[in-house]
Amino acid sequence: QDGQLRWKRVMLKLSGEVFAGGEPLGIDPAVVARLADSIAEAVSVGVQLAVVVGGGNIFRGAALSERGMDRARADYMGMLGTVINCLALQDFLEKRGVETRVQTAITMQQVAEPFLPRRAIRHLEKGRVVIFGAGLGSPFFSTDTCAAQRALEIGAEALLKGTKVDGVYDADPRTNPDAVRFDRLDYGEVLTRGLGVMDATAISLCMDNGLPIVVFDLMGEGNILRAVRGEKIGTLVSP
Ligand code: UDP
Repeated sequence: QDGQLRWKRVMLKLSGEVFAGGEPLGIDPAVVARLADSIAEAVSVGVQLAVVVGGGNIFRGAALSERGMDRARADYMGMLGTVINCLALQDFLEKRGVETRVQTAITMQQVAEPFLPRRAIRHLEKGRVVIFGAGLGSPFFSTDTCAAQRALEIGAEALLKGTKVDGVYDADPRTNPDAVRFDRLDYGEVLTRGLGVMDATAISLCMDNGLPIVVFDLMGEGNILRAVRGEKIGTLVSP
């Protein structure tokens, strides 16, 4: 155990995009392996870690519906995609000796437990990493909203949003060299300035419940450990 820990239990949101590495679609096992290394390092300090995994590397409901699919059905496809990512992450974590459980919002008991909040909490208390798949199990939501909801339901004290950028900027840093990064923001600013932290549903849920959000660069060396320990990293969105 580590006396420096700021939070006892945290929620880590992993976007599906990251799983694809440089590819537009699918899973790059080398990337998931690196991610698993970083998560294993982070949990070794004794923080209880839950993970929500996205699915943007497989299917996004909104994108499919723009191309003619029924939105709700496309969203279910998106949710199923997140489970594929969960199983990949589970495999690489267990290879590193990290005990895990996958829980899904759509039951598929051959591959994962159903989402049972009290059981998830028991797993966390035993030091297992709990990976949540299939989002909230409902169309028209995002895995970011799921991460906020699950964080609240299991009593996580912070939502750590790992992305491809190292925080929140006032413009897109990939296209605008003058973009400035925020160290801190409040939820209202994120909503009114339309900053692309997470969708408005997710931000509102965090705002209404005072759940802090840390937006950070997921693949930076040692970053998950820093975020989990509550060190200053990326952008903090808080009351
Ligand atoms: N999704 C959904 N309900 C949920 C969570 C996800 O319908 O509660 C669907 C939605 O179609 C979404 C897809 O699953 O586009 C993949 O999730 P997301 O886009 O949030 O993944 P990320 O952007 O984090 O990779």
